Amino acid sequence: MTEENNLLKKNLERIKEDLDDLQRYVDDLTMFLPLAFCTVNPLNLILGVNQSFQTLTGYDEMESIGNSIDFLFLEKSKVQELKEEMPVQKDSIQKEFVLLKKNNEKVPVSVSTLARRDNNDNFLGYFLVITDISETKEFQKKLEERVSEKTKELEIKNVEVTESRLALLNILEDVEDAWKKAEEEKNKTMAIITNFTDGLMVFDRDNVVRLINPKIEKFFYISSEEVINKSLNELKDSKNMLPLIESLSESSLFQNGNGSTDQFRAELVNKDNLTLDISEVSIINEDEKIGSLVVVHDITREKMIEAMKSEFVSIAAHQLRTPLSAIKWTMRILLDGDLGELNEDQKGLVEKTYSSNERMISLINDLLNVTRIEEGRYLYQLELSHIEDIAVPLIESYKTEIKRRGIKFNINIPKKKTPKIATDVGKITLVIQNFIENAMKYTNQGGVMELNISYNKEKDEIEVSVKDSGVGIPKDQHGRVFTKFFRAKNIIKMETEGSGLGLFICKNIVEAHKGRVWFESEEGVGSTFYFSLPVRSQEEFDDFLKKL
Ligand code: ADP
Repeated sequence: MTEENNLLKKNLERIKEDLDDLQRYVDDLTMFLPLAFCTVNPLNLILGVNQSFQTLTGYDEMESIGNSIDFLFLEKSKVQELKEEMPVQKDSIQKEFVLLKKNNEKVPVSVSTLARRDNNDNFLGYFLVITDISETKEFQKKLEERVSEKTKELEIKNVEVTESRLALLNILEDVEDAWKKAEEEKNKTMAIITNFTDGLMVFDRDNVVRLINPKIEKFFYISSEEVINKSLNELKDSKNMLPLIESLSESSLFQNGNGSTDQFRAELVNKDNLTLDISEVSIINEDEKIGSLVVVHDITREKMIEAMKSEFVSIAAHQLRTPLSAIKWTMRILLDGDLGELNEDQKGLVEKTYSSNERMISLINDLLNVTRIEEGRYLYQLELSHIEDIAVPLIESYKTEIKRRGIKFNINIPKKKTPKIATDVGKITLVIQNFIENAMKYTNQGGVMELNISYNKEKDEIEVSVKDSGVGIPKDQHGRVFTKFFRAKNIIKMETEGSGLGLFICKNIVEAHKGRVWFESEEGVGSTFYFSLPVRSQEEFDDFLKKL
């Protein structure tokens, strides 16, 4: 029995030793566990702490053991909750606290507790593990800051986007306004075009019709559908459009160049007997032709008034010519002494009256010529002649007068006779006469005059010019030189006689001969007036006669 007892005792001792070893082992283990750790009894007093606990809290084993866990944390009420929960708690609890370290530093910690119970489930206390979560908290704080920063950025971006959207909406509104305005302008322009009293026709750069107004439809008996999007050539197939297209044949529409800014003009009479003035001008944008505009203007009324004016002038001139001729012959009789010799004073007086009368007759003749030209009654009697045979005797007849005016005079004609040309001698004489008289009138004493005749073989034409060193024509008036009643400003002061009809008649005469007339002039230096006439073969001449 004692032996048995001894054996039992021995075994118990060994178990106790083993248990002690195990306890030491557990103590060592908990001692060096990296987590801060303490054991707490049911009264919440600390029984043991490990090394990590001491490091984290700053309290050593002696300072900790026997203390209530309250002293470790800032929030005492939360600790109370924990104390109350622990005895009934089966699982572990985890809560966040603020640890009050020995040095008064406050550290956010996570506290995990696990209840200790015996075999009969009696509550023995608990383990308390404290984990420093300051870094996690810091990280969380930073993360929150970052999130709030990002949120702010996003908000700013959002504001920017909203602003951009608003700006875009504003722009869109502006664009819409501009568009509306453009549309209004377009409508206005279209209304003007539609109601325009002239006919308007717009061609694009490829000579395709893009727009016509109702007036064109009316003038030419066409509808816009027949014309829009048709090319010039296609328009020729339309019987109603043909006259208009033909009248434009010399315009820039038919020239393949880049177009010119010069306006082209023509006239035609339509089915309703209306006289229409056709003008065409290139539409140029940034030096490039982008189309053409054709304007058709009804000039029937102007034509009628013009015809009435011409008729009036013609009647008045005819009426005046008869008494003027009677006066002329009466003077002649007086001057010739048929009614007895006149004394010097009487003769001088009658001579002056005679030359004034002559000037009046010449003015009346000019007026009559102009009305004949305008009425198409200025008939031509053509014959083949050498221009020298007309010009040289004529200038000879002016020699004395030119000399009397103190003007030097030269004639330059080719040695070899120039080819014959078809002329109405009387009318070409009028042209040369007019050139000579102008040069004489508008050249001061001491000046020089020159008659030049030449044959241009290349162009096969005869060129005649009268040059002077006279007063010249102001540059700003060059464009009006060949128009009716034109008299330049600088000669009006000179008080020379003149009607402003001479050059208009000259131009008509030369152009009726299919020739050209032009001039060069510089104020204060002098002028040269030219005309050229084409040389024709006998057949061409016969042909030309037939067409007259
Ligand atoms: P006018 O009867 O006035 O001479 P013209 O038709 O012959 O009429 O000439 C028209 C105008 O042209 C003249 O009034 C004058 O201003 C100008 N002119 C014509 N020839 C000359 C010239 N040789 N020198 C200067 N001016 C000229």
